[in-house]
Amino acid sequence: MTKSDIYDVLYNEASRLLKAENPCNIREENGKMVCNGHLVSCCYGCKHLGPKGCTVEALSCKLWLCREVGSNPINAIIVVSLDSLRRAGSAMGVNTDPYGKGFRTSKEESLAS
Ligand code: SF4
Ligand code: SF4
Repeated sequence: MTKSDIYDVLYNEASRLLKAENPCNIREENGKMVCNGHLVSCCYGCKHLGPKGCTVEALSCKLWLCREVGSNPINAIIVVSLDSLRRAGSAMGVNTDPYGKGFRTSKEESLAS
């Protein structure tokens, strides 16, 4: 399996978990985009953010949840699941660090770093 393949597997699984559990619940309210976190969206100001959301496959972002959502006991299972994917990717040499090299990185940027 190449790093690209591993990246895809992790990204697809994280996407599936987030879609099923919907911990962020990003939605429109009174004409504004809101979510379950303190910020309007953790994507604010990112170069990859388009009018309809993220325009790239950013694995490290998929494996990260803000404190408001991550510390809510109702999200305990998805927090553990995402963390497990993050550690698995890291062990296989895929950049899953949301605070370091993986900060707001697309697949192409991540594999090139
Ligand atoms: S991680 Fe937190 S701030 Fe980011 S979209 Fe989800 S709820 Fe909102
Ligand atoms: S790269 Fe990350 S922070 Fe940027 S728009 Fe995509 S999900 Fe949001």
